[in-house]
Amino acid sequence: MAPKFKKIVIPAGGQRITIKNKKLSIPNKPIIPVIEGDGIGRDIMKATRIVLDAAVKKAYKGRKKIAWMDVYAGENAFKLYKEWIPQETFDAIKYYYVALKGPLTTPIGGGFRSLNVTLRQVLNLYACVRPVRFFKGVPSPVKAPEKMDVCIFRENTEDVYSGIEWKKGTKDAKKVINWINKNMKKNIRLDSGIGIKPISVKATKDLVRKAIQYAIEHKLKSVTLMHKGNIMKYTEGAFRDWGYQLAAKEFPIRTITEDQLWDKYKGKQPKNKIVIKDRIADSMFQQILTRTDEYDVIATPNLNGDYMSDAAAAQVGGLGMAPGANMADFIGLFEATHGTAPKYADKNMVNPGSLILSGVMMLEYLGWDKAATMIVKAVEKTIIKKTVTYDLHRMMKGAKKLSTSKYAEAIISNMK
Ligand code: NAD
Repeated sequence: MAPKFKKIVIPAGGQRITIKNKKLSIPNKPIIPVIEGDGIGRDIMKATRIVLDAAVKKAYKGRKKIAWMDVYAGENAFKLYKEWIPQETFDAIKYYYVALKGPLTTPIGGGFRSLNVTLRQVLNLYACVRPVRFFKGVPSPVKAPEKMDVCIFRENTEDVYSGIEWKKGTKDAKKVINWINKNMKKNIRLDSGIGIKPISVKATKDLVRKAIQYAIEHKLKSVTLMHKGNIMKYTEGAFRDWGYQLAAKEFPIRTITEDQLWDKYKGKQPKNKIVIKDRIADSMFQQILTRTDEYDVIATPNLNGDYMSDAAAAQVGGLGMAPGANMADFIGLFEATHGTAPKYADKNMVNPGSLILSGVMMLEYLGWDKAATMIVKAVEKTIIKKTVTYDLHRMMKGAKKLSTSKYAEAIISNMK
């Protein structure tokens, strides 16, 4: 049953996305909840909505349209509800499945780690999805940035995200150390801090399944399990083993291992088969630099994924252009990967690229590929013409500096 909202206004004429045969069924006017975000969220969300609307209008000649539905989180929620994220925001995203989100400030003394982490935990958004690709003309610190086109699936609920720690010297730390030393016959020094990180079969398999599905949908050649299993055998190593098990059990026709590629197919990858490989985390960092184009999808536990997403983004010009999504089985919350940059808030100055490209991911998730491609090409053209926001402007010779809103207008005028 549709939730009853106190403050959220359901847009007239909008339709709900539903699930049919375990797939999203997308109407022509889907209701999309949107969290504007704090700080620069206000600037970049405005720009993003007009770019997305223009592309959808142009691609489908008015047959399709996003019915945006404002939902509240962060500062605007606190003003309206005296709560940082009201229940009806969670209800709306759960009920309508696909949502767009700007960055949120972490309130000091709010009683929780961060609003973003709360959203991910309450909605069980177990996969953090970060595609990283190069846009021609964006300044990059490497020689061949165009070789990067990788999508990172980072586990979003456990490993260090549900890590448990005890501070050195506390009663609890001593208790834990003494218990382990005595009962497990170990020899931990008493002046140690202690941390525990869990990695489960369920969360690993949910993540790897999503990564393989993505590779299938996007017709990609490989999925790499990135782990530190040579040292941490029963967490990181188990992640690798469970990943291989899932691929063999749930995708036996569509996947082969790297060993099978050589033993059975003499190194010649058959069409329609995805190679599942694994790399130790340190080697993965080398490989993404030196053999960048050998990687399509990387699936990895939380902490490795945190490092790898930013390192890969740095190779193609930084976080300003890096989109992201946090996803469950069906829910997709598409969001900018940077924060609220309060120094620049309401100045109409910053780069809306990350949120616009997250919007592109959202359009692809809806199956509206024509509009998505239109935006990607227009962004490319806008950058090649050297019309960019201040962050790229200061790194590009002979570029013209545009405000956030003018940059959005330039993207729209470059759409074909
Ligand atoms: P930040 O990403 O907000 O900003 C760091 C710096 O990056 C800025 O000062 C600016 O120079 C640059 N920058 C960021 N976005 C940009 C853009 N779109 N265009 C041009 N330059 C850009 O990181 P921070 O200062 O560490 O965090 C500020 C607040 O944002 C904190 O409250 C933090 O908790 C929150 N935060 C939220 C999210 C999220 O909502 N997903 C993510 C990270 C941080």
